[in-house]
Amino acid sequence: MKLDAPTLVTVTVFVMVVMGALYLLSWSQARQTRALGFLGAAQLVGAAAVTLFGLRGIIPDWLSIGLANAVMLGAYGLIWGGARSFEGRRVPLPWIAAGPLVWLAACLVPSFYASLGARVILSSAVAGLACALAARTLWHHRGERLPSRAPAAILLASEALLLWVRIPATLVLPAPPTGTPEQTYWVAVLSFVALLYTVAVSVLFMAMAKERLEAEQRRAAETDPLTGIANRRALAAEARRALATGPCALLLFDLDHFKRVNDTFGHAVGDAVLIGFCAAARRVLPAGAAFGRLGGEEFACLLPGAGTAEAAATAETVRLAVAAMRPGPAPGLAVTVSVGVARSAGDPGGAGFEALLGLADRALYQAKAQGRDRVELAAPELRQVA
Ligand code: GH3
Ligand code: MG
Ligand code: MG
Repeated sequence: MKLDAPTLVTVTVFVMVVMGALYLLSWSQARQTRALGFLGAAQLVGAAAVTLFGLRGIIPDWLSIGLANAVMLGAYGLIWGGARSFEGRRVPLPWIAAGPLVWLAACLVPSFYASLGARVILSSAVAGLACALAARTLWHHRGERLPSRAPAAILLASEALLLWVRIPATLVLPAPPTGTPEQTYWVAVLSFVALLYTVAVSVLFMAMAKERLEAEQRRAAETDPLTGIANRRALAAEARRALATGPCALLLFDLDHFKRVNDTFGHAVGDAVLIGFCAAARRVLPAGAAFGRLGGEEFACLLPGAGTAEAAATAETVRLAVAAMRPGPAPGLAVTVSVGVARSAGDPGGAGFEALLGLADRALYQAKAQGRDRVELAAPELRQVA
């Protein structure tokens, strides 16, 4: 199979335009993801650059060399801008414009413009720098785990290296005479490499945007919006996992006379008390505890591996921490909590969470009946679900 330069250039431009259009379409549907806009613009600007390169010999050199490289450097700068925007960083437009402007200024110097070596060195250095900065931006934010992040950063870093390798290569290897088939061959090879990188980088950025969205949706589906802790669904899933592997204790919390808090101080203060309760409980709960809101002013805490005495002691610690709370919006308000404690020896079948919750609920009822602000254990004969 033989692919000639015009065919490769045409295919590259076509793919870049399609990718760019897809990105801009995605951006128009999700305007807050500005990175998609930058990356779409990078593709279209890149397509314009490849077109200008491909018309070498047909259009004047100042267009196919001078302008083409400036446009290409603009495209690389936009990829860097897209990476920064994706990470929620400020996009440094003056620095993005600096690449093409430095190039155009250098082209005004006749000795630079006449030297193929000097031109390759400057354009490769600037384009490589943009790729390296984009790779560094993605790598710097690796704390947000996205499966496609590392491949994207590695790909951009390898593109930077490939561009920078051209610098020593230009210094060592003799330049091919202009207008020869060899030179046309290199234009074709370079546009093909640009095509591969464009496709790979585009696919990986799209994948990262999708992975981030999925992670956000997963987090939202598992989080209680008011307090930011796990919701009932997430806690139940965690409980099933923990019960399948061994014994577990469950603490069931219910704030005392919470309706009165709302009635006396208003719903907003009630909300602040719920948030304050979570903060106070989390401060004293042990590291392995899974804490979540079941709904309203009811919360639960799962203690994997804990015995009854340890669970009762933890419940008492939380009760005392809550009694010491002085909610900011209503300093005179005294908050207390009642706690029911139950334990399961484990449940490989995976259906025991509801049974354990039922036991803890009965203990909680006892705590309420006996005056509130106290910890009650499930009755000894019931305390442990098999
Ligand atoms: P007890 O000591 O018996 O538990 O009495 P209580 O008043 O705490 O119990 P009750 O179940 O009668 O009242 C619970 C109240 O919690 C009623 C409801 O308006 C309030 N509530 C539920 N969810 C929220 C919320 O998200 N924010 C606020 N501010 N109040 C809530
Ligand atoms: Mg309640
Ligand atoms: Mg209550």
